[in-house]
Amino acid sequence: MADRFGESSRFEVTASRYRPKTFDELAGQEFVVSTIKNSLKNGHIANAYLFSGPRGCGKTSAARILARSLNCTTNKPESGLEACGVCDNCRAVSAGSSMDVLEIDGASNNSVNDVRQIKDEVLFAPQAGRYKVYIIDEVHMLSSSAFNALLKTIEEPPPYIVFIFATTELHKVPATIKSRCQQFNFRLITVEVIQGILKKICADNKIQAEDDALFWIARESTGSMRDAFTLFDQVVSFSGGKIESKVIREKLGIIGLDKLNALAEACAENDAAASFALVDEILDSGVAIEQFIIDLAGYYRSLLLIKNGITRESILGYRPEIFSAKALNTYDFIRLEQAVDIMLNCYRGIRYSVSERFELETAVSKLIWLTKWVSPAELKAAIDDARGVIGGFKAGAANASSGAAMSAVAGANAGASAGANQRAPFSPNASTPQGGAVPAAKMSFSDGSTLAADFQRVISARGSVKDQEEEDVPLWNGAVHGKKEEIPEQVEKFVSKIHGTIVSQSTE
Ligand SMILES: [Zn+2]
Repeated sequence: MADRFGESSRFEVTASRYRPKTFDELAGQEFVVSTIKNSLKNGHIANAYLFSGPRGCGKTSAARILARSLNCTTNKPESGLEACGVCDNCRAVSAGSSMDVLEIDGASNNSVNDVRQIKDEVLFAPQAGRYKVYIIDEVHMLSSSAFNALLKTIEEPPPYIVFIFATTELHKVPATIKSRCQQFNFRLITVEVIQGILKKICADNKIQAEDDALFWIARESTGSMRDAFTLFDQVVSFSGGKIESKVIREKLGIIGLDKLNALAEACAENDAAASFALVDEILDSGVAIEQFIIDLAGYYRSLLLIKNGITRESILGYRPEIFSAKALNTYDFIRLEQAVDIMLNCYRGIRYSVSERFELETAVSKLIWLTKWVSPAELKAAIDDARGVIGGFKAGAANASSGAAMSAVAGANAGASAGANQRAPFSPNASTPQGGAVPAAKMSFSDGSTLAADFQRVISARGSVKDQEEEDVPLWNGAVHGKKEEIPEQVEKFVSKIHGTIVSQSTE
């Protein structure tokens, strides 16, 4: 298969060599294919077709295949008018030299004069085939006057004229045009389908390839066969007949999952030194910061999905079992959701930041204490419990959920029984607060009891000492000061201060 470029560049034209030539070769568009084939079989040929869908998913290829089918000299309706591929007409269309199949780029021929020219030309019958086919790519780029000029022609064309429009932006095509076309929506091609095609190409060309590496190429191409071919060619050019994930990572500056696992584990262990060292190491290996952020966001997204029961490799990006078990076991889904959020915010932040690296490191820092993060919902539950205790203490102000707390307050050993009766609002793993800031979940006084019980203990103590010097009574951020009648209001203040994230504890 060596061509005039020599051995090293023989795969540089994968996209054109593997361009589908029959409907059956059109990957991942089964619905479109079967509908078109059926209508051809039944002799229903529309004046105009409109192919819409993302880039690189086969619209132009489908248009050419359709054009060939319409003009093939040997195909039979019984066989769905599938083009033979060898007659003069078929070959001319494939080579782009057919006088009856005209491809027009809508982006550069978008004026009303361009359309007028088409209108003049359609009066001439096809030369060699049955139909004169106009393929207009990126049709949404036509000016509105051009669309208007086109409208009349689509509506009442000579019987031998077929228009095939292709667009990536269907919403920009006027409704008047859409309604006169037979419409087909092309889909993104799935990772599995792309991987399968790449596998076949490797087999055809005797290239060894790791499954993981082909999977990565397929995933990176985000549903576009064209992008997959381009990336594949790039990888082949430096892989020397053997495609390996490791080589791809080194050459293209990609973070391997092993590194992401290591970083996630260091963060899960709250090991700041190891985490920042890993960040430095990964950046040193030539990974772009933006890519790092995207990969880390994707990594935590995958953990989040696994936590929610998703196991499909094509959704996760990797097989679920190769993600860090430690990270998965450390975090619940609320904290994983927060991790994705942190990384997405980080990505948004880098655009206006003094330093992309600072943004990344700040995000990683947040991931390091993620185990101690408390969600607004958890905090609210905790505050609700605490208010229940206070409401029970202040006669008549009790809310519905404070029954247990009220009885507990009424009891002699109030603190202990309140702790026992109430639903624990927080994640349980207690750890000693470091520095001044601790998450509300870990907030406790001396005995590590629940927030609600703590509240109650503070209030009980205040009730007994009231306006005296209160050396022995813990203060809580200044929130629970003064007379007990003011307490609910103080709690409101307290809640508004914390913003659902972190609170400071003072036990002075
Ligand atoms: Zn033919």
